[in-house]
Amino acid sequence: MIAQADIGLLDGFERALINNRLHLVYQPKVSLADGTLKRVEALVRWDDPALGSVPPSRFVPLAERHGMIDPLTHWGLRTALRQWRDWHAQGIDLCLAFNISALSLDQLDFPDLVERMCRALDVPTDRLVLELTEGSTQPLIKLMDTLTRFRIKGIGLAIDDFGTGYSTLMQLRQLPFTELKIDRFFVTDMIASADSRMIVRMMIDLAHGLGMTATAEGVETEEQLHLLRDFGCDVAQGYLISRPLAPDTLAEWLRDWNQRWPPLIEPLRPPVPAPA
Ligand code: C2E
Ligand code: MG
Ligand code: MG
Repeated sequence: MIAQADIGLLDGFERALINNRLHLVYQPKVSLADGTLKRVEALVRWDDPALGSVPPSRFVPLAERHGMIDPLTHWGLRTALRQWRDWHAQGIDLCLAFNISALSLDQLDFPDLVERMCRALDVPTDRLVLELTEGSTQPLIKLMDTLTRFRIKGIGLAIDDFGTGYSTLMQLRQLPFTELKIDRFFVTDMIASADSRMIVRMMIDLAHGLGMTATAEGVETEEQLHLLRDFGCDVAQGYLISRPLAPDTLAEWLRDWNQRWPPLIEPLRPPVPAPA
């Protein structure tokens, strides 16, 4: 049974989708080796005149439960691919990361649909990465065939929020992921906790050992950035680098970032000695 509060929300979400009142913001993901912009992750936003700003953590699961996830995925993917084409025309070359609900992967023809969308919008398939979080409905291993079809088409696959879900190492070994995203929890916790530090280091080595790129989510401090760099993490994403951006501000952010990066990677200054 659907809760009363959810009925209003679902109704509002459906109207927002139909009337094109959702929009996407894009969060930069940068290389920890040299600071270059590698990717942007598209994140959906819903600002409702009556309900205010509704977070995706509230409406995406609702859309999943009530048969609205495919329309959201199709709208979002088309919007993000069009945006990629605009950036490309401006000379900004990057990969586009897009979050996909595991439920959308139930249809075997979904990889063909995504490939057709890319072709129609002139986006090379190797510029697209799909980020997957394991849903509670089914283990990712059941999606092996669909995931393999994406890889055959050149589309990248990231396992999102790694370390907090149900993914086993056995699944990680078998599934054709190209990127492992370390959940924000561990990145935040690793400064205070030696255990989390060890886990982050292990996840980076694990990703590399299995031929994947290691990405840290939720990087908020310089200390975290330095540690991740020391551990050999490839890519970082988080508020320290940038909050999710409106698409027309990416070029300006990039200019600013190119100035900010060199001082950011200078070694942490030693503490000032106490006066004698
Ligand atoms: P995610 O894919 O793991 O996205 C990262 C989330 O962490 C985003 O929240 C982002 O705004 C937030 N974040 C990034 N850096 C930081 C940081 O340094 N500190 C903190 N505290 N947070 C940070 P957001 O946009 O609210 O999205 C939440 C989740 O909703 C996403 O998690 C993703 O699973 C889902 N989602 C977002 N957009 C879509 C979409 O278009 N389709 C689908 N199916 N799911 C989406
Ligand atoms: Mg994601
Ligand atoms: Mg995540």
